[in-house]
Amino acid sequence: MALRFHNTLSRRVEDFLPLDPAGKSVGLYCCGPTVYDFAHIGNWRTFVFADLVRRTLEFSGYQVRHVMNITDVEDKIIKRVRATGVPLRQFTGQYEAAFLDDLQTLGCRLPHLTPRATEHIPEMLDLIGRLVERGIAYQAADGSVYFSIARYRGCGCKYGQLVNLNFDELRVGERVASDEYDKESVADFALWKARVPEDGDVFWPSPWGEGRPGWHIECSAMSMKALGASFDLHLGGEDLAFPHHEDEIAQSEGATGKPFVKYWLHGAHLMVEGKKMSKSLGNFFTLRDLLGKGFSGREIRYLLLSAHYRETFNFTLDGLAGARAALARMDECVGKLRERAAGVPPAVPTTSSGSAGGTHGSTFLTRFADALANDLNISAAWAAVFDWVRDTNKRLAENSLTPEGAGAALAAWETVDAVLGIGTKGGAEVPAEIQSLVEARTVAKQAKDFARADAIRGELKARGWLVEDTPKGPKLKPL
Ligand code: AMP
Ligand code: ZN
Repeated sequence: MALRFHNTLSRRVEDFLPLDPAGKSVGLYCCGPTVYDFAHIGNWRTFVFADLVRRTLEFSGYQVRHVMNITDVEDKIIKRVRATGVPLRQFTGQYEAAFLDDLQTLGCRLPHLTPRATEHIPEMLDLIGRLVERGIAYQAADGSVYFSIARYRGCGCKYGQLVNLNFDELRVGERVASDEYDKESVADFALWKARVPEDGDVFWPSPWGEGRPGWHIECSAMSMKALGASFDLHLGGEDLAFPHHEDEIAQSEGATGKPFVKYWLHGAHLMVEGKKMSKSLGNFFTLRDLLGKGFSGREIRYLLLSAHYRETFNFTLDGLAGARAALARMDECVGKLRERAAGVPPAVPTTSSGSAGGTHGSTFLTRFADALANDLNISAAWAAVFDWVRDTNKRLAENSLTPEGAGAALAAWETVDAVLGIGTKGGAEVPAEIQSLVEARTVAKQAKDFARADAIRGELKARGWLVEDTPKGPKLKPL
């Protein structure tokens, strides 16, 4: 079954057809964290959703290039840098490192690229320059450079692709210098913000004077540098659709004249008692808060993956206790399968939605794959998993499963878990960072960068894993 996703551009669920004429490579960009604090688990819902999209694409046989930026210069960061007196790089570095650690605790595959905004200022200036040249951007009296929505529309371009806008309410002549302005208003937005004393040491030179980039231009510059002027998928939480993503489209299409992104996917918010979990409302838990309460990364991942990505989801600690109970049921079943399969050579898990695990396993895989292909219908996917657990437990209790049958069932489970990323207690799990290194090595080999591929093999060895190339792809063995 072809993959289908809800595209915010068309407001419909559409068949997924990559831009690559060979239908193989897929470029995926997800707006990354603003590193001014620890991410809360509302943020994590969005990043785990991005990981699910990536894994589903890989499960379907696509070769994904996953890019997630690090927003390391922005209004909130500058305020905190000023308040703490810690230099920018040192301040953001601590939260970036924590973020990448937490990503692994939650079983997310590391993106192939995590570009930092502060390292892409020349690319941003180049984009702004092109917009100025085309007459779409202008420098105002305050020294800042603004994107003119009226001039952009005057060129025949459409502002309001992701949201329906009422241009009668356009506040003519009003400009928005802040990254955090009223999202209901439409106004020219800052591409380059002229230096002000409150910025302290945070500024760069530019053809328009010293200053710093606006938040929106950061993502246009980094995504197009990594994935080209047009790419397949762009993800983020629903609050980013407007203005952040709308402005990304305007800046990118305004500068290149090419369609920017084919599919826009937005995840709904994680709520607490009916309100969006957010720093400003103070109703948030970080991942570390929950680990401190004794919950594990896989329990939190399970909870975050339990609802459909387009449904708002209410977070409760009881929900986490429920996740623990559900995982215990799964662990018990997989543990029993391991006992039954002891001594049998391991069956090969498939890397795609092909069949594994005999008829029982292949029905399970087909149901699971079809559910995910249908705009990531995770409830139906979990239903397939839990029906399989029930059925497998029944077979084990009846003693009707041979050791080979148990081995095949384990292979089916591993195939499914390559998408869910839940793992099992006591299983020989491959840590997410090791998996990412294997993928980076495959990418290097495909690019004929054998020196890098060898260096990654060396790094894997140093971390205790041997990688072997087989006709079915790379295989890992613990050393
Ligand atoms: P930020 O670090 O604030 O730029 O946010 C990172 C990501 O988290 C963005 O994609 C936001 O849309 C997303 N996000 C923020 N709050 C929530 C929430 N309560 N539930 C789900 N996603 C959220
Ligand atoms: Zn972004």
